[in-house]
Parts: sequence; structure tokens; C-alpha cells
Amino acid sequence: MKPLADEQIVRHLRRAGAVAERAMAMARHPFGALLLAPDGETVLAEQGNIDTVNHAESTLARTAAANYPGAYLAQCTLVTTFEPCAMCAGTIYWAGIGRVLYGAQESQLLALTGSHPENPTLSLPCREVFARGQRAVEVIGPVAAVCDDMLAPHQGFWRR
Ligand SMILES: [Zn+2]
Repeated sequence: MKPLADEQIVRHLRRAGAVAERAMAMARHPFGALLLAPDGETVLAEQGNIDTVNHAESTLARTAAANYPGAYLAQCTLVTTFEPCAMCAGTIYWAGIGRVLYGAQESQLLALTGSHPENPTLSLPCREVFARGQRAVEVIGPVAAVCDDMLAPHQGFWRR
């Protein structure tokens, strides 16, 4: 797969952050994801969080699988503000998406949310989920340069 330049990594994660902000403006939890074409540049789709069983990444992975063949998705990248949970990592795996790029780690979010009833963080790193599969999924993240940007909309959100 075509490597992503540092500049692309930061730019795409910031765009995912804008999708998260949009979700928050729609009274949803501030998480956002993008699907990148094999060129690592074209954004094929954007998805914000919907609810606790329709996270941004799993919803986007289902949309991707419904619209693109597996051989194509194997060259695509799912970009997300936070490390995908086990549900989303599983859906990304089954959709056949080849690469995941995330900004900040689940554990950094847990430190903010505590044991919030709407975000009972499922602590299972996505790399561990993918390692159990038969197909390799490349993972990039966390990205220190954007962690504060990814966490910004969450500051205060979970204490409302
Ligand atoms: Zn998830």
C-alpha cells in the first residue's frame, strides 16, 4: 500500500476531527471517520458517530463494504479520530479495509470520560483484534502531533 506522508496523516486526521465536531453539533458523541481512496488523498466518504452501537468507524466500514469491492478496499484507509473499539475493528476487518489511521488512543479518552455510562470504554487494542485475523490490516497511530486536537471536543463533553 502507498505510504502516507506525515503531512497527509495530519491533514486527514484534522478533517476527521471536523467530522467529529459536526457530529457533536448534531447532539452526538464527538467521533469522526473518513474513508481514503487508494491514492491516500481522495476522501470517498465521511461518517460521524451515530449512537453507541453505530459508531463512526463501524458505520463507515459497512457503507464501504456495500459500495466497493474487497480488492479495492484492501487498498483503502479508514481514518478515525480515536483508536477503533473492538466492534469497529471487527467490522473494518470484515469489510476488508487495508489500513487504519487513528489520532488518539482509547486510553487517552478513558482518562477523560471515566466510567461514563454512554462510553463504557472496551479496552482491547485494535492491533490485538487484527492480529487474530487471517488478513493483515496495517495500523498507524496514535499520532502525537494531533492528539490534543482529537481530545479537544471531548474536554468537558463527558462531564455535562
Ligand atoms: Zn467503535
